[in-house]
Amino acid sequence: MTFDVVTIFPAMIAQALAAGVLGRAIETGILDVKVHDLRDFAGDRHRIVDDVPYGGGPGMVLKAAPVFRALDAIEAARGATLRVVLTSPQGVRFAQAAARRLAACSGLVLLCGRYEGFDDRLRARIDEELSIGDYVLTGGELPALVILEAVGRLVPGVVGDQQSVAEESFSRGLLDFPHYTRPAEVVARQADGAGAEVLRVPDVLLSGNHAAIRRWRKREALVRTLARRPDLLAGATLDVEEREILRELEEEGTGASDGRD
Ligand code: SAM
Repeated sequence: MTFDVVTIFPAMIAQALAAGVLGRAIETGILDVKVHDLRDFAGDRHRIVDDVPYGGGPGMVLKAAPVFRALDAIEAARGATLRVVLTSPQGVRFAQAAARRLAACSGLVLLCGRYEGFDDRLRARIDEELSIGDYVLTGGELPALVILEAVGRLVPGVVGDQQSVAEESFSRGLLDFPHYTRPAEVVARQADGAGAEVLRVPDVLLSGNHAAIRRWRKREALVRTLARRPDLLAGATLDVEEREILRELEEEGTGASDGRD
């Protein structure tokens, strides 16, 4: 899958993509990510890409024409029509379903705003506008990286174990079950200084009984989802065993709390 990121701070993107799972996927060619400096498409020798807002007021506005030129150049280089995504706090809230949908595209272009954002006429060339949450950041680089990472890791081959992607939070409308690793006991000092507590891994995970472990994980995922994000359950895809566990939990009245304060 190809990604083209358009930004006035290309180093922010390049540096973040140099390491980890995505870095490896880029190195091995599973993902093809190119970062474009918007100033290269400014059209003047001073490389100016922003100007004052019509009507007055504070802040600068990114011009539309340099982005149009960047999009023409990217589409010509890729030889394909690409899905153009504008990062914006005014966009549709980005979530796992959108990540799945975008991972099926052959190529994405991510546009990173700055200042007051882009000249609104840019909308003529965008396919969708995505927000990563109800807060305002100074630029679209972090949102573009969030989208790139969430989408990129769904591309087959990027994450080594596809089963872990299939089981993790939001993949089926459930939060993930809790994970533990060795040792089987860890000592935690209590916050109030009253002593130490030995924290044990749930016995079932040490039992070697794979059917019991599978059922326990399903139950824990449901308990967590009921306690933290009951809204997800309406759209969840549950198998027969999970539906049965959910009925049990509802009968027991479990799920209002999953052990968190
Ligand atoms: N004037 C804009 C407004 O109030 O809606 C805010 C512009 S913001 C300071 C500059 C850029 O940061 C935006 O163009 C966008 O690219 C990016 N940005 C900021 N917050 C974002 C969010 N929550 N989701 C996605 N992009 C965001």
